[in-house]
Amino acid sequence: MHIEENIALAPHTTFFIGGRARFFVHAKTADDVRDTCAFARDKNIPVLVLGGGSNMLVGDAGFDGIVIKIELDGIVQDGGTLVAGSGESWDKVVAYAVEKKLWGLENLSGIPGSVGGAVVQGIGAYGAAVGQTLSWVEVFDRDNGEIKKMSNSECHFGYRDSFFKHDNEKHIILRAAFTLSLSAAATISYKDLAAKFSDSSVEEIDIQAVRSAVLDIRKGKFPDLSAEGTAGSFFKNPIMSVADASALKQAYPDMPLFAMPETDGVKVPLAWLLDHVLGLHGARVGGARLFEKQILVIAADRQTSSVDVITLARDVQKKVFDELKIKIEPEVKII
Ligand SMILES: Cc1cc2nc3c(=O)[nH]c(=O)nc-3n(C[C@H](O)[C@H](O)[C@H](O)COP(=O)(O)OP(=O)(O)OC[C@H]3O[C@@H](n4cnc5c(N)ncnc54)[C@H](O)[C@@H]3O)c2cc1C
Repeated sequence: MHIEENIALAPHTTFFIGGRARFFVHAKTADDVRDTCAFARDKNIPVLVLGGGSNMLVGDAGFDGIVIKIELDGIVQDGGTLVAGSGESWDKVVAYAVEKKLWGLENLSGIPGSVGGAVVQGIGAYGAAVGQTLSWVEVFDRDNGEIKKMSNSECHFGYRDSFFKHDNEKHIILRAAFTLSLSAAATISYKDLAAKFSDSSVEEIDIQAVRSAVLDIRKGKFPDLSAEGTAGSFFKNPIMSVADASALKQAYPDMPLFAMPETDGVKVPLAWLLDHVLGLHGARVGGARLFEKQILVIAADRQTSSVDVITLARDVQKKVFDELKIKIEPEVKII
């Protein structure tokens, strides 16, 4: 294990923003993870676990501790189960499953980042979520140095949420297993996908066609990472009680609402409120702006300061609260 010093973090994030890390390690094995945590404990410095850096905003001041860049790779198939290293590219795992005609991940095609990050963030898109197929994760417990398996139910998946978002970085994910279906089971109820397959019956839809359709729909919905930065949707959609959502709907009858049976709540489309109620289309602070094609996304020009992104995000949060009395939370982790 080689410990580097004073490493720029911006190139390790999709926002391309952030200062330097005091220490930085490329962890390729569980032993690398263990040794790095021991080093951090000896030096009494904080640890930041980094996957693909696609859901993080690192401040210009950087990180005065050690960054562990998770690079544990590999994909192993056992029947309908895929076990992947936590540093494996998420989309590579999806592509692998699609090629083997294993159903369950195809709607999550094209999401940047790593397998570990996908589990922590509880990723979801086009009617699917990572918690629907994950069977277990193997984790390193920083408190006692043990490596153990955690089941799906122990991961406490919720809307863009999991146990790991609230554990104070205690567990580092090493591997994740997904139980996929060998028989065709296309989920195309999401509006954009349903439109793509309006002429086909569900039984005749091919898994590769679903992946291609999702990749196609996603094209143009996010900034081009080769030209500017982003971490995808910056905010979570608020989940409200049925009563509060109905009151809001009375005020704004055209607003769509989405039932969330697993929470007893209702998902309110924040993008619709920002656009139709608060008129935030085109809002900008310095090099950071709400992305014109998807207003929940913050796009940042190269060389933008983290302060611009944070100021824009706080302006949006304040406006939503002042005018609608709704508290919105960032989906992105702010370092
Ligand atoms: C263009 C774009 C489109 C996106 N589209 C979507 C979308 O459709 N749906 C969606 O849900 N998200 C989307 N995202 C957000 C993001 O891609 C996902 O949340 C992704 O899963 C984050 O993975 P990562 O490896 O980059 O995590 P990072 O950003 O590196 O880390 C995120 C969090 O996970 C922790 N972490 C990472 N790896 C580990 C590990 N092995 N063990 C423990 N903790 C770990 C980090 O400490 C951090 O707290 C998008 C982002 C971008 C830039």
